[in-house]
Amino acid sequence: MKILKFGGTSVANAENIKRVLSIVKERSKTTKIGVVVSAFGGMTNMLLDTLRLAAKQSLDYEQGFGTMEHKHLSVIKDLFPVTEQSSILGKIKGELNELETLLQGAYLIGEATTQLTDKIMSYGELLSSFIITEYFKSEGLDAALKSGRELITTDENFGKATVDFKATNARCADYFANTANQITVIPGFIAASQKGKATTLGRGGSDYSAAILAGATKSEILEIWTDVSGMFTANPKLVRQAKCLSHISYEEAMELSHFGAKVLYPPTIQPVLAQGIPIAIKNTFFPDDEGTLITKNTNGTDKTVRGISHIGGITVLALEGPGMIGIPGISKRFFETLSQEHISVVMITQASSEHSICIGISDDDAQRALNAVNTAFEYEMASKKIKPVVIENNLAIIALVGDNMKSHQGLSGKMFSTLGKNNVNIRAIAQGASERNISAVIGKGDVKKALNSLHEEFFEENIKQLNLFVMGVGNVGGRFLNQIEQQRGYLKKELQLAIRVIGLSNSKRMVFDENGIALDAWQNELEQGQQADTIKFFETVKKLNFRNSIFVDNTASKAISDSYTSYLANSIAVVTCNKIACSSAYEDYHNLKQLVKKYDAPFLFETNVGAGLPIIDTLKHLIVSGDKVHKIQAVLSGSLNFVFNNFNDNTSFHDVVMEAMEKGYTEPDPTIDLSGIDVMRKILILARESGYHMELSDIENESFLPEESLRADSNDAFFSSLKKYEADFQKRYQRATKKDCKLKYVAELENGKAKVGLREIPAGHDFYNLEGSDNIVLFFTERYPDQPLIIKGAGAGADVTASGIFADIIRIGNF
Ligand code: ADP
Ligand code: ASP
Ligand code: MG
Repeated sequence: MKILKFGGTSVANAENIKRVLSIVKERSKTTKIGVVVSAFGGMTNMLLDTLRLAAKQSLDYEQGFGTMEHKHLSVIKDLFPVTEQSSILGKIKGELNELETLLQGAYLIGEATTQLTDKIMSYGELLSSFIITEYFKSEGLDAALKSGRELITTDENFGKATVDFKATNARCADYFANTANQITVIPGFIAASQKGKATTLGRGGSDYSAAILAGATKSEILEIWTDVSGMFTANPKLVRQAKCLSHISYEEAMELSHFGAKVLYPPTIQPVLAQGIPIAIKNTFFPDDEGTLITKNTNGTDKTVRGISHIGGITVLALEGPGMIGIPGISKRFFETLSQEHISVVMITQASSEHSICIGISDDDAQRALNAVNTAFEYEMASKKIKPVVIENNLAIIALVGDNMKSHQGLSGKMFSTLGKNNVNIRAIAQGASERNISAVIGKGDVKKALNSLHEEFFEENIKQLNLFVMGVGNVGGRFLNQIEQQRGYLKKELQLAIRVIGLSNSKRMVFDENGIALDAWQNELEQGQQADTIKFFETVKKLNFRNSIFVDNTASKAISDSYTSYLANSIAVVTCNKIACSSAYEDYHNLKQLVKKYDAPFLFETNVGAGLPIIDTLKHLIVSGDKVHKIQAVLSGSLNFVFNNFNDNTSFHDVVMEAMEKGYTEPDPTIDLSGIDVMRKILILARESGYHMELSDIENESFLPEESLRADSNDAFFSSLKKYEADFQKRYQRATKKDCKLKYVAELENGKAKVGLREIPAGHDFYNLEGSDNIVLFFTERYPDQPLIIKGAGAGADVTASGIFADIIRIGNF
């Protein structure tokens, strides 16, 4: 004997029912089988919604009824040849008429009792089981229908009745011992009381019906056929990387389902557990997939955490007060009160001070629980020994589950630090006495992120997914996107990093794709995106609430750098090549650094100085390892290097600057480079990173440009002033050359003072042979007092800057 149960999706329409037929046909060849079926997918919800409308005396319920009627009739039309339809339609219409009468009754009296609700909810399974049995018969199977009400006896706790196993087991054993049919179809979920009243076994209860039958008939196996290929490490609909668990223990399955793995209704295990009947979870749509086997032991697995599940719709209720300390019996009364109200407690935590008890219950029960507990402790509350109950709803519980968790330290540490890093706020924590689960209550909006980050931490062999939100797709941004596209395979293989760009924006348009924007076609996607909006962009990043989110700023815009605080304050990392944030008022810089600490959110800006050269990173390492910077000497402007390396007595200064601008070596406004402002910003950032409290105005700048060039209000005016003062530029060149020196634009920091300016560099100096747009930095520190630590290399250009941003992202990935 085998019991097979087919869930709502598996029997949602004619096409799916045909799949069920072929599975049943195959399984029934060798043994008698019981086929437990759910209502057609979505029908139980529809019945409930329709009843609610009727009980509210809204005539809209008629429409709900019409939809349900149509659904059943159309399945019949799709399954049966016209000649066979009339008798089936006749019977179904008769049932539907009764249902309509019941709904009318609810409408007229304007209420739905729990008893009526059970009666009405039963129609889903009553109708589906009849249609499916008739279909099996018409396809030549030896099938008969047996009502769940005649097999399963319960008490009259409507909505979630308790099974009378003695009576039930006897009825089932008797029926199956005597039936001549190879296949018996039974409606799941529904049962009847001793007095014959319609009851139900709780939402999702068809699994339970099947388990009860399996236990009663001592079946060799219970097969749960559903729409996923087994029980997964997490709900596969929320965690794409979830993996199927091929073999787990009854206890693990119970914990996972108790904490929300809906694929199995929690009470299902109990009737099969005592007799060791295995449960197989299989996919109706991919019957060849292995699925999950649930048995007593799962020898040989060394995995500690087997799965992560969650339950939504949770309310936390806390009973607190000084009067609770040391008084025996308070918890007893508390839980008795809840039990009398039939409120099931999902999670319990009690502070060791005995000052408070905190429980997790379903949102639906919250108000009843609140009233009942307030009434039960009225006396203590009046005398202020206990505070009035507080509740917080719209929460969720997530739980790590696994048999082997008990003997491992550090799991909860890992769990909570992962959640913390991702800014998931934890309201309550509990660890089951069996130590088979650790659970935490979190906000509903954080569930997807929490599941995915925990899943990544515990199951994904250290493949870490980074979710990027990229602002700016110009020279640097465009190349950055190309680099991600090219490096993707390497990163995954060598660094275990999976990088996706979820959001992209330029100044005109923005686009989001939760599955990752196709990087070979980002231009198209962006063109078709919505109108760009910096605030909306941030709001969307926040709402999407992805783990390991990184905001990447490839612009030079102040408005964008002003938004960093919002990102960091939501624990979203920021990577930027935009210098504005770190070189504006010290207070702003300091504020950003504080946010980094407070929200544990990385803020990296390596490309602010020397493009892709690891200058800031090196400086950071020196400082954190206890070194102290005494002096920095540096040539930090790729643009000015280009200009002074190419300027001589055969060219004009004007032409060289023009060439630099045309080649993209300067900012669009070349005065930013030529005036030395850009270099000032860079040395300021290095000074601040070295620990100095400094403002831009503290930096001395001896400009080599004439006043007129500095004050030019357009590029044209600027260039014509350069022409005008050509003779002065030539003089500076001659003077240097005569001394065998070269002109370099140098930035210096010494004793907390910084200056920038054009210097004559003698042969033999580290700066003398600096080529093209190279940068160089000399760090004189406590550890490197005379011979400085030198970093030198290409320090400008879109490609190296893009690589620098990329390097920052990888730093975060390895963080
Ligand atoms: P049925 O109608 O067949 O009873 P359910 O909808 O009750 O199906 O249960 C199957 C669903 O359970 C899946 O579609 C999936 O979304 C959900 N689910 C939640 N957690 C898990 C998990 N850990 N493994 C597999 N499925 C899960
Ligand atoms: N149809 C019922 C429900 O939706 C029972 C089940 O499908 O398991 O809750
Ligand atoms: Mg189910």
